Amino acid sequence: MVHFNRRQVLSAAVAGAAFGISGSLEILPSALAQASAASPLNPNGLKFHKFKIGDAEVFTIYEGAIWREHAPGFVKNASVDEIKASLKSAGMADDKVPNSYTVTVVKLGDRTVMLDAGNGAGRSPDVGLLHANMKAAGLDPMRLNAIVVTHFHPDHIFGLYGNDDQPLYGETEIVVPEAEYRYWTDPAVIEKLAEARRGIARRVQASLQKWKTVRQVADGAEAVPGIRAVATPGHTPGHTSYRVTSGSGSLMVLGDLTSIPPVNLRNPGWHIAFDQDAVLAEATRRKVLDEVVASKTVCTGYHWGMPGAGTIAKDGNGYVLIPVA
Ligand SMILES: [Zn+2]
Repeated sequence: MVHFNRRQVLSAAVAGAAFGISGSLEILPSALAQASAASPLNPNGLKFHKFKIGDAEVFTIYEGAIWREHAPGFVKNASVDEIKASLKSAGMADDKVPNSYTVTVVKLGDRTVMLDAGNGAGRSPDVGLLHANMKAAGLDPMRLNAIVVTHFHPDHIFGLYGNDDQPLYGETEIVVPEAEYRYWTDPAVIEKLAEARRGIARRVQASLQKWKTVRQVADGAEAVPGIRAVATPGHTPGHTSYRVTSGSGSLMVLGDLTSIPPVNLRNPGWHIAFDQDAVLAEATRRKVLDEVVASKTVCTGYHWGMPGAGTIAKDGNGYVLIPVA
């Protein structure tokens, strides 16, 4: 169903596109969309998108976007001009590099599970929309049954933090990859990390490591019933994707297997600065993408913008996202 509620519809063309799909989406009036949600990766200002995998309801929830100035070294083996050209060929402005954040929520039976937790409020006025947009989707952020984490970068876990670095979600169980937990909680890791990354380890060790609600999941094991961990290392040492299974349906929550589509989905050999082991990240990316292409598995990507989900097709030397209906 398409939810228009009392909101205005942007245009007949957008409405037509909305009616043409079987999923659920919400369309904002253009002024509000520009103020609160629209970005090059979410041009229609969607708050959420909803679709089904088997009997499971899957929601992709938009948390917001930021824009980075171009900087040499953002992609170690591509020039700023090459990045601009790839943004342009994706139909985006090329003056800055956009990034956006999309959290996946899965309703499996009577359980509602969120995968990753966003930046949280306060990083920038353009992020922190997670709770408002969950509510727009009919989801109560404070009544989740579990939160499952792909990796420990701030845009994925700082949204777990409430006041005084206590868990924002109270007693809700937080399931984290065992390898990722081991890496970031090692006291010796801090001095091995680049300066810019040390704050993450310090914050994890001072707080999340002490939270009683945190449970670890091993590669291949179920994080919660119906959601299984699949190690996809490289972006971080313990980066983990999750396979959601419902009936004969299956969804892969890829996390940061790729960055935004014009960067390393289009160019899987590009080594972004955020990939801690870029060579391993590339090998993992190509292997998993080839698997989901072959199996036609629907995937969600944390930095794919909206609707943030789709199947992947091979396209020349790269891959292309075919958004989910
Ligand atoms: Zn990320």
